Amino acid sequence: MNAMKDLWDYFNEIMRLRYINALLDWDQQVNMPKGSVKGRAEQTALMQRLIHSRTKSDKTAHLIKDAEKQNNLSEIDLAMIREAKREYDQATKIPDKLVEDIAITGSVGNIEWEKAREKSDFSIFQPYLEKMINLQIELAERLDTGPTLYSTLIDLFEPGATYDWVSKVFNNLRPKLVKIVNKFEGSSDKPNQSILKKYYDPEKQWKLSIEIIKKLDFDFNTGRQDKSTHPFTTSLSSIDTRFTTRIWENFLPACIFGTIHECGHALYQMGFKEEIHDTYLAEGSSAGFHESQSRMWENIVGRSKEFWTYWFPIFQEYFPENLRDYPMEEFYRSINVVQPSFIRVEADEVTYGLHIILRFELEKMMVEDNLQASELPGLWNEKMENLLGITPPNDAEGVLQDIHWSGASFGYFPTYALGNLYAAQIYNSALKINPSLPEDYKKGEFSNLLNYLKENVHQYGKIYQVTDLLKKITGEDLNPDYFIKYIEEKFYPIYGF
Ligand code: ZN
Repeated sequence: MNAMKDLWDYFNEIMRLRYINALLDWDQQVNMPKGSVKGRAEQTALMQRLIHSRTKSDKTAHLIKDAEKQNNLSEIDLAMIREAKREYDQATKIPDKLVEDIAITGSVGNIEWEKAREKSDFSIFQPYLEKMINLQIELAERLDTGPTLYSTLIDLFEPGATYDWVSKVFNNLRPKLVKIVNKFEGSSDKPNQSILKKYYDPEKQWKLSIEIIKKLDFDFNTGRQDKSTHPFTTSLSSIDTRFTTRIWENFLPACIFGTIHECGHALYQMGFKEEIHDTYLAEGSSAGFHESQSRMWENIVGRSKEFWTYWFPIFQEYFPENLRDYPMEEFYRSINVVQPSFIRVEADEVTYGLHIILRFELEKMMVEDNLQASELPGLWNEKMENLLGITPPNDAEGVLQDIHWSGASFGYFPTYALGNLYAAQIYNSALKINPSLPEDYKKGEFSNLLNYLKENVHQYGKIYQVTDLLKKITGEDLNPDYFIKYIEEKFYPIYGF
């Protein structure tokens, strides 16, 4: 008998159930008629029950125990056992009732949050948020994996990260970002975005998005792009990766940078080594690491001058009415405007981190310091004024803008900012080995960067934990200075400094 092989086989099956569940979800978001929600919701709930009961079964416990006793386990086997244990622990520590309560409060809360946001009336959402905060506190208490409750929730998305660690990173980052934003406020030569807000034919945007991802080596033989209201990336197996984009006819960046961002996630999902295909290890090392890949392609590559040296003439051909007589240099500046704004998802590379720090501080207070939901809107606006110097005119553009708190994603926000930091640090290492990467982009050539990422990041999936992987790639622990250096070198010239 080979205990390790039995463990692999058993968890392969669980993973396949998850992929089937992902297919149901992908179809719902991309194809399904709106009126069919009820039937689909029941199917999804059934799949989740199946996955949950298999994960926490006695069989799982036995398989893990037997596998651990085996000699000569490889690095990959050990990683598999680590992840299997993590899943088993989580599944057994959380009672079915709590899972159900979170799911129901999340789906009802989501509908109420949408209403509240539409009417810009926080009081509609407040009771559901209160309930969700309590459920998240209970979840953290039961899991009890981190040194504090909020650390435990962060660990769900960024394994190993704690509140203290993230805090230290953000405290280092915050004053530097604020200083840069203030400096740019005083610039006498600010770029503006008006060119991006003209009418851009949706059909042509779609065609261009396909052209771009072809150039980025997205493999259409094992993946596809579609449209959905909220862009996302998912895998239906290790050789079937789907992602979506959205098209706004009066704002070009939504589709173009949305596509590049999701394509970055998709390339990660497509790049796992065959040995770990369709296993628990066929996932990003963490949410933050996943985000590092999407943001590297979207921002470091996709918003670089070299990228547009190649693409701008093509865009001019597609949209001569807007771009024929428009200078490339100005276009490049327009996609890199830095400006305090209310909405996180539209924020630029510099102010983005400040939006995250605000949410990070509020989440900590909600989970650990007894902050009441009713106090949130006021505190949100206060912090916004503090960090970005602006106050939202209403709650829709303030505390109600994100979907995360209506669902169960407490502890997720920090991973977005960590993604930016990982990206800058990893890219720095890529440049050391391959200093001519930016020259590649001018020729529409992106495979040298992709090959670097495949070899150093993608192939490993979840075999290594984040801190180990980052050290393996860059030789260092997380160092936010790389991000600041990247920001200064890129944006100072744009703002005439
Ligand atoms: Zn992303």
